[in-house]
Amino acid sequence: MSHLPIAGTWRQCPHCQRHVHQLEWGQLQICPHCGYYLRLTTAQRIQQLTETFQSLPEITAATPFAFPGYQEKLAKAQQKTGTTEAFTAGIATLNQQHFLLGVMDSHFMMGTLNTIVGARLRQAITAAQTQRLPLVLVIASGGARMQEGILSLLQMNTVLAAYDALNAAGNFTLNILTDPTMGGVSASFAFAADTVIAETGATIGFAGKRVIEETSREPLPPDFQSAASLYAHGQLDAVVARPDLAATVTQLLQLHQRK
Ligand SMILES: [Zn+2]
Repeated sequence: MSHLPIAGTWRQCPHCQRHVHQLEWGQLQICPHCGYYLRLTTAQRIQQLTETFQSLPEITAATPFAFPGYQEKLAKAQQKTGTTEAFTAGIATLNQQHFLLGVMDSHFMMGTLNTIVGARLRQAITAAQTQRLPLVLVIASGGARMQEGILSLLQMNTVLAAYDALNAAGNFTLNILTDPTMGGVSASFAFAADTVIAETGATIGFAGKRVIEETSREPLPPDFQSAASLYAHGQLDAVVARPDLAATVTQLLQLHQRK
């Protein structure tokens, strides 16, 4: 069957339904027909926003959680993404700017916040503070990870406390909200940066639209929880198209350079 395409080379666009070759999706994973953005992996995001990237020492779980089926889910996510958890951080350079970059990955159990992600976020925040570097977080998360229960929720305030200390120390902080930024992540550190921008088309909110509609029994506007709508209501500093993101990050880091 040599006339069939090689597996994985074509991918149907979830928005316009056209079949698009991986070369046409390109490094930025944008549909050439309708402009739809596929969600980027950790490696793709690091490639987009850095020239060099030196990972911080990797924190891993000392004792596994016993929630039924959780270990299998974790193993599957690690195999699928090639990363050990939903958050990766390191020291990055881009156009002569040095900064601490943290990336959440929606491909890893929907980028959910758990004890390890929380510990790695605090590690990144502390590293930025001790090394006097700006902190740039690319956020993509469905919220807190339910398999770790209340310990996941605890990360909301412990990460936020570390984040506040960094802001108080005067380090520049920039959060880039990408699709999706939801739940306990949007309700804690996602909006705590000096500058909060979103990638075009991102869905940003707390509870999902369907849940709110079912609870309130009221239809919601079509642009509800969209980056554009949040910007229009003053919740974001800017909405940036994916091809412009590296230049925007560079410009913001230059503007906030320490003398
Ligand atoms: Zn498309």
